[in-house]
Amino acid sequence: MTAASPRSALAIAVVFPDLLGTYGDGGNGLVLARRAAWRGIDVDLVQADSGRPLPSADLYCIGGGEDGPQVRAATALIAEGTIRRSFDQGAVVLGVCAGYQLLGQRFPDSADRSQDGLGLLDVTTRKGTGPRAVGEVIAESLPEAPRLPGGRILPPLTGFENHGGVTVLGPAARPVGRVVAGVGNGGGDGTEGAWSDRVVGTYLHGPLLARNPDLADLLLGWAIAPGGSDRPLDPLDDAAELALRTERLTSVPRTGRAGLVRRLIGRRA
Ligand code: GLN
Repeated sequence: MTAASPRSALAIAVVFPDLLGTYGDGGNGLVLARRAAWRGIDVDLVQADSGRPLPSADLYCIGGGEDGPQVRAATALIAEGTIRRSFDQGAVVLGVCAGYQLLGQRFPDSADRSQDGLGLLDVTTRKGTGPRAVGEVIAESLPEAPRLPGGRILPPLTGFENHGGVTVLGPAARPVGRVVAGVGNGGGDGTEGAWSDRVVGTYLHGPLLARNPDLADLLLGWAIAPGGSDRPLDPLDDAAELALRTERLTSVPRTGRAGLVRRLIGRRA
């Protein structure tokens, strides 16, 4: 649909699920494909395993994985160049955890040697010094986060994290949210994820887009109208997704200031 793939169907590629499939992030591709198909949009969803050329696509989903496969994935993606080329032609890219880190400038391998990322996001990841960040996350949207059609602010993001890396944003990247539960980027500024142009990186598994359908539609909208469109996609019946969101958002104790105050009050009472 974009110049990246002048086809009639919207092409969605799940990148290297054989390397980066540990956390079920391939579900993001499935969610995008279903939400497009439910609206009558022709979709071509490809599970693009490593070891063969990556197909050109309108939307790439890169998931999380262990340190070794993450390095193998980054090395292959840099060498074969399809994501960079497709991005230059208008494609949208979503990276989760290892996928987020490898979209950045540099990230550490298991021996803490710095490895090259694709450089599509101005973020740098280093090894954290504290315990691994594991657990549920809630991240509230920030004014500088990507906006929904009509300038609407994204609802809070829900997901779970499991990472040892700490990610710091450079000047060309903006955060996706501010953590009110969990760790997120972990660099001390309370942010979660990063984005610029049509690239979004985040630590949130879930799969992310099953728990955050507005974000799924935002990415779909970018892929369908690369020049930008302020027209929202046709509404869907999201009752099941909203029930899941409510359950997740209300069952997680918030560690942000409001949550801390609530817990302190609770302790005194
Ligand atoms: N290996 C990376 C880290 O631990 C990414 C982990 C993941 O993808 N969940 O920081």
